[in-house]
Amino acid sequence: MKKKLLLLIFFSSLLMSDERFRNTNDQPNLKSFGDFLKWSFTRKRPDPIKIDSSDEWKQFTSLKENYVIWIGHSTFLINIEGITVLTDPVFSNRASPVKIAGPKRIIPPAMQISDLPKIDVVSVSHNHYDHLDIDSLRKLAALNSETIFLVPKGDEKLLKKKGIRNTAEFLWWENIMIKNVKFTFTPTQHWSARGLSDRNKSLWGGWYMSFPNYKTFHAGDSGYSNDFRDTQTKLGQPDLSLIPIGAYAPRWFMKANHVNPEEALQVALDLGSKKNYAMHWGTFSLTDEDTLEPPRLLQEALSKKGLSPSFFEILKPGQLKKVTLN
Ligand code: ZN
Ligand code: ZN
Repeated sequence: MKKKLLLLIFFSSLLMSDERFRNTNDQPNLKSFGDFLKWSFTRKRPDPIKIDSSDEWKQFTSLKENYVIWIGHSTFLINIEGITVLTDPVFSNRASPVKIAGPKRIIPPAMQISDLPKIDVVSVSHNHYDHLDIDSLRKLAALNSETIFLVPKGDEKLLKKKGIRNTAEFLWWENIMIKNVKFTFTPTQHWSARGLSDRNKSLWGGWYMSFPNYKTFHAGDSGYSNDFRDTQTKLGQPDLSLIPIGAYAPRWFMKANHVNPEEALQVALDLGSKKNYAMHWGTFSLTDEDTLEPPRLLQEALSKKGLSPSFFEILKPGQLKKVTLN
């Protein structure tokens, strides 16, 4: 009887793992509950320091040129060659399933949803609450029924359940052409979950966007791996990469899933991108590092390699960055 029960547990666990996604290198991304408790008891709570924002974005309406604006965290407004993309849109006050608890914003989004131009495409890297904010997605869908929402495999049903219809979901290396722009979903080393029982049931990744005369790459969240070299080999060197530099401390707990600034620079070099902008810092306090440590360590990593700060820039939220096409 006991043997039967053990077999049943064994086979049902196999069944469960079959339904879950894995990293390309099989890097396990599941920390034990004991590790989680250890982090909870030892974790630091850094002082939330408000970084400076810019209101340069207000000029975009009169601008005929192509531009990129960092709205905060991993949210960018990208307007290139007549198509407007919004990445990982998070405009809510907390990155959390509930409105009264969970990580709160240190700074407001540099632009509100009502300030945005007409959005053609929304790209979502994975379903963590600081990247997939269903309230923001619903508001965007209500503003424009033509906006197309690109999400990782396994997340489409969540959007559909909330009444968002114009959606498509992707496995790694799958792509879609929208108005002359090819969007390809690429592998990263991370994980997914929104609740206790859905760990890795949806995929995670980056979005590579090939405009007719410009290539840009949004890396989502990732630990350091060979995935970025593969992305360059398969899709070419991006003109611009948007790379996370925050949420990396303590290393024993975060390293597998989040690059530190030094590794973020290596990601930029692996991609071979001409230019890089930092993201995923200064917006929510998610982990143990001080708010201002990621940009400081990035500057140090750049100077150690003899690279100019303009190779991997720290932007102000709301700053308007013009894009020069090839
Ligand atoms: Zn994440
Ligand atoms: Zn994140």
